[in-house]
Amino acid sequence: MKVPVVKEILKANDRVADENRSRFDAAGVRVVNVMASPGAGKTSLILATAARLRGLRPGVIEGDVASSLDAETIAAHDIPVVQINTGGSCHLDAPMVQAALPHLPLQEIDLLFIENVGNLICPASYALGADLALVIGSVPEGHDKPYKYPGIFAKADVVLLNKADLVDVFAFDAEYFARGVRMVNPEVPIFIVSCRSGEGLEEWTAWLHQWLGAGAADEALAAAVAETAAAEVGPE
Ligand code: MG
Ligand code: ZN
Repeated sequence: MKVPVVKEILKANDRVADENRSRFDAAGVRVVNVMASPGAGKTSLILATAARLRGLRPGVIEGDVASSLDAETIAAHDIPVVQINTGGSCHLDAPMVQAALPHLPLQEIDLLFIENVGNLICPASYALGADLALVIGSVPEGHDKPYKYPGIFAKADVVLLNKADLVDVFAFDAEYFARGVRMVNPEVPIFIVSCRSGEGLEEWTAWLHQWLGAGAADEALAAAVAETAAAEVGPE
């Protein structure tokens, strides 16, 4: 007798993730799954990135075990946001995201950030229907995280190392960190940033805009990206 319980759950999750992706594609929304441990700066990075979107319209789904603190922070910046309280679960899954969608004005969003529950383990195992897997490490966590939690770094499409302003304080070895990431994900782009000092945010958002342009799901979005890129190199 076979007992394929977990596999079946994951398969069901993948089906709903595909449905989410279809909804996003139909609405012309690109989606970033933001994964990191608690306190790495997910919410700060979403806000810092949203402030540099050059005309593209952000939206946010906040996943937390409890509370709506981060969603209130996002809402204070006039960004459409919906809070998912997982009621104890340590990750978001596709059905939770699906349940959140009716509460978001998808037609008015170009780039949707899904802030996953703070956790470096199981969020990597649950597809949500996102286009980009963003994993954020942070200096105070220590440079050994890619070695201890290789699974999530292996799944990343892009890695940010946040709180770069604290590298000296924590004697953080950024090369060792990067080497650990590259062991499981040789080609992944890595950006070293600080939401506090602003260091690295231009490079990260330039990469993001390039990614958005390269994979634009609809022509309006591609045009908006081209327009803002042109404005950037336009008359000073
Ligand atoms: Mg947060
Ligand atoms: Zn979990």
